[in-house]
Amino acid sequence: MTVMSNTLDQKPAALDKNDEQILGPLPTEMRRHLCYTLGHPNSNGDLKYYYQALALAVRDRVCQQWQATRQRFASSTGRRVHYLSLEFLLGRSLNNAVLNLDLAESVKSALKQYGCELEEVAEAELDAGLGNGGLGRLAACFLDSCANLELPVAGYGIRYEFGMFHQHIENGRQVEDPDHWLRDGNPWEIKRPESTRTIKLYGHTERYHDAEGVPHSRWVGTQDLLALPFDMPIPGYKNETVNTLRLWKATTTDVFDLAEFNSGSYPEAVAEKNNAEQISMVLYPNDASENGKELRLKQQYFLVSASLQDVLAQWVNQYGDDFTDFGKKNCFQLNDTHPASAVPELMRLLMDEHGLAWDDAWKITSECMAYTNHTLLPEALERWSVGLFSHLLPRLLEIIYEINERFLGEVAKLYPGDLEIRKRVSLIEEGDHPHIRMAYLSIVGSFSVNGVAALHTELLKSGLFSDFYKIWPKKFNNKTNGVTQRRWLSHCNPGLRGLLNDTIGDQWEANLEEMAKLADFADDPAFHERWAEVKLANKRRLAEYVKENTGIVFPENAMFDVQVKRIHEYKRQLLNVMHVVHLYDRIRRGETQGMVPRCVLIGGKAAPGYHIAKLIVKLTNNVANVINNDPKNDLLKLVFFPNYRVSAMEVICPGTELSEQISTAGKEASGTGNMKFMMNGALTIGTLDGANIEIREKAGEENFFLFGMDANEVTQTRKDYRPNEIISADSDIRRVMELIEGGHFNANEPGIFDLLTSGVRNSEDQWLTIADFRSYIDAQQQVEATYQDQKKWNRMSILNSAHSGWFSSDRTIQQYADEIWGVKPLER
Ligand SMILES: *Cc1c(COP(=O)(O)O)cnc(C)c1O
Repeated sequence: MTVMSNTLDQKPAALDKNDEQILGPLPTEMRRHLCYTLGHPNSNGDLKYYYQALALAVRDRVCQQWQATRQRFASSTGRRVHYLSLEFLLGRSLNNAVLNLDLAESVKSALKQYGCELEEVAEAELDAGLGNGGLGRLAACFLDSCANLELPVAGYGIRYEFGMFHQHIENGRQVEDPDHWLRDGNPWEIKRPESTRTIKLYGHTERYHDAEGVPHSRWVGTQDLLALPFDMPIPGYKNETVNTLRLWKATTTDVFDLAEFNSGSYPEAVAEKNNAEQISMVLYPNDASENGKELRLKQQYFLVSASLQDVLAQWVNQYGDDFTDFGKKNCFQLNDTHPASAVPELMRLLMDEHGLAWDDAWKITSECMAYTNHTLLPEALERWSVGLFSHLLPRLLEIIYEINERFLGEVAKLYPGDLEIRKRVSLIEEGDHPHIRMAYLSIVGSFSVNGVAALHTELLKSGLFSDFYKIWPKKFNNKTNGVTQRRWLSHCNPGLRGLLNDTIGDQWEANLEEMAKLADFADDPAFHERWAEVKLANKRRLAEYVKENTGIVFPENAMFDVQVKRIHEYKRQLLNVMHVVHLYDRIRRGETQGMVPRCVLIGGKAAPGYHIAKLIVKLTNNVANVINNDPKNDLLKLVFFPNYRVSAMEVICPGTELSEQISTAGKEASGTGNMKFMMNGALTIGTLDGANIEIREKAGEENFFLFGMDANEVTQTRKDYRPNEIISADSDIRRVMELIEGGHFNANEPGIFDLLTSGVRNSEDQWLTIADFRSYIDAQQQVEATYQDQKKWNRMSILNSAHSGWFSSDRTIQQYADEIWGVKPLER
């Protein structure tokens, strides 16, 4: 296919006008793919083949626009952005492509010939789960917004053979299954072997002098492997722009070491291939915690080196080997510190491979690196042991030491005689086992450092990075996260989409600020009725989904109360479960005045090695079991929803009425689930944490259920925290503890929840669950009182959606483009 023959770093041939005519009508194209690409002329009713044939036919449409975008890209001379991320949590692609290319009608007729609907066929697509949670999903929303805004931004990531594990529940406990998402092939990717890059590992460094006597370093005796790129299209919304996500697969060259071959180790040489392929085999399933494994460091360097070489090759192709303007014309956005080795790696490539001197290479590097911090949790701050680094990446370690030496020299000039600050800001944490502080390396190497919500950025400046903020105040900036309304409203909530289009027009799909027009209808009874109808239909769809996945029936008149996100102590799913136990306790005691029927859904994956998080899953399931099977209870349901993922959230968030955002203040950097719920008309019960603060400001404080301590009060409380006194003094809380501690939910498994109960009773409890419990109970009573007044509830719900415009990732990306990247849309 001629349209596919070009790569990013080669000059594309002019688009042949005839290419556009090669494709027939979509129904014909789907039939052709079914018969000839897949060899299943009638699919035997297997939806999988219908999905694949349709996806290929749609992809061909995408490819036309993709090729045209690549040409605009290749002939542009403006700045380009490369978004480096170890995670892209894309979810499904078919519906997104159909929506963005406006193909709904022709897809309908294509499927009609087989008697099926897009909805059921789309279900056959496996999620591309190449991420853990918020950070990976943010990268996916960002790519969508960049394409919507026609910005010259390419994503770079790893093509993991196995994405985020699948979760199922056995006897209430999480069990992990591998996610072999590529098993049936991936119709969205295009392999680009002509852009393969070579990656070095291990070996050692040497000094040498060139012909002019200038000293250089080289990295020799390495074990090399190959990075093979696969491109995924990122279609913009009805704008004929298709950007690229390039994912690298690790492999080896087929050229075997002849000496080894002759010494009889041919099988070993072939087996090496397997070894190399380990690097892109599996996504590490840790969210907000580092694990320090050598394979993970290899993954990080593999992504970084392949991507930087790719961009440098594009540069050489376009501008030759003068790198003077490279930093002005390129920007690398580092999604957390995971790709932080981009700083020393770009230095290495510029110096060792392209002959630049240190000062020139440093000027370029620090002109084009930008770093996004995603967390303040100490356990998530990446530190790599110097020993491991010197073994795996000896040349990079040399460069890091030199960056540090020069940086500390500058610090010494700024703060003469202050040895303490030099120790505090050093890129190397000294000690028996010295470590490299990857966040500090990222700050020193970047021209921009941003947090992901207003509070988070302030806490970075005043806490974690305060020394650096003093040195470089202008580097620091905030970019409050956002989510794409194309996936998180248009696609996932067609009922609301229709109502919005009838009411305020369809401009909100490309510009979410248009949603503000909804506020005019906040007191319109006819609109209220339609709003409530849409919500009810979405609740029915969610209830059906819950029944399919858990067997539990959610009555449609109940309030649907949802907390879905990774299971982590700081997110306080435990507080939620304890509140459910409190409601259950009231039901048992007949104190149900003021209670509304409520269905609580909790979902999320625990990192496989995170014992306490897994125990919270078990507690949720055990409590659910008792509550759901108590014949005296007809007011309350609890489910643990298994295998929470992007495609699950697409059903869950439209059907949710109450969104639980209850983290310990100061711990959730931003949150983005909170934004998806807000757009879809859920009300939030939440703490003053992350983007909740901005959600409350935009929605109006009267339209938000606030509880708990703020970040300052959290800091104060920690100094003298006595949870046992709070428990003894509050009979509601005491009874909750007695039920859990008395084994009411684990009669046959005594003691299994002791770790959780002793945790909340401990004065060192980081998450201060008991401190916020009373305030949470009271706020939940406010929720119930409001829910009983459906007119008031709907008004608040409408106003939440109306004021969600700020939380579009289009707004976030426009700010990145204007304030960090300095990029303009691609010209036509
Ligand atoms: C949005 C999203 C997240 C992030 O949720 P938070 O509540 O912000 O932690 C995680 N996982 C999936 C699948 C998501 O869609």
